[in-house]
Amino acid sequence: MTQTDRGGKVLVLCDFDGTVSRTDVGNRLFRRFSGGGWREIDAAYVSGEVGSREAYRRAAAILDGDADRMLEFVLREADLDPDFRAFRSFCREQGHDLLIVSDGLDFYIEAILRSHSLEEIPVHANRIVFRPGQRPDIEFPWASEDCGLCGTCKRGILRSMRNRYDRIVYVGNGHSDVCPSAEADVVFGRDHLLEVCRREGRPCIPFERFGDVLDFLSRNLSRPSGTHNGRLRGANAAGRIEENQTGR
Ligand SMILES: [Mg+2]
Repeated sequence: MTQTDRGGKVLVLCDFDGTVSRTDVGNRLFRRFSGGGWREIDAAYVSGEVGSREAYRRAAAILDGDADRMLEFVLREADLDPDFRAFRSFCREQGHDLLIVSDGLDFYIEAILRSHSLEEIPVHANRIVFRPGQRPDIEFPWASEDCGLCGTCKRGILRSMRNRYDRIVYVGNGHSDVCPSAEADVVFGRDHLLEVCRREGRPCIPFERFGDVLDFLSRNLSRPSGTHNGRLRGANAAGRIEENQTGR
């Protein structure tokens, strides 16, 4: 299928913790409600000893809190990127599809989006199931058996959508973003993702806020008068932004 066949369709995949929310809400939630046991689990995850799926299995066994207390906590801890709402509007105007892909938990992402009237944004994440009088369960509706490491296989989601889009833009910051970003056309990264891309010589555009992503896409992937004019992919995209930064 050619670019013309799809009308220049763009998909933007956004990580949530540390990206849409500047704080890592999931990490704080587990630290707060696991009685200290999360620290060891998280260390095993960060070192690569276990994947997030196994980390969540271990965490679910020690998670102690009801839905109301957790909800109150996450709404307090969230720090939505101040430019994210404008970015969402930009995507709508341009006809870009926007999807949140997260290896965190659906209930807090959806609650935080709802609290900002952004609940129409689709979310693919791990699922927490609360049952009265029992510990919550964690389920993995977006897992893949490719390697079986992540709760949410973001690369699997990207691949399942690849044929419907001309360009896939990826915005993220963490371990679960490394794999999918290798298959995206334009990558915006910070923190661990940016470090890995730099180390591996992969194109990655550094960003601080979603305003940076919006600026770049409006210069390079916007479609004035309803026609698609974006032609950037990978290395070219990264080269352009560095040029721009040097010029400022
Ligand atoms: Mg993240």
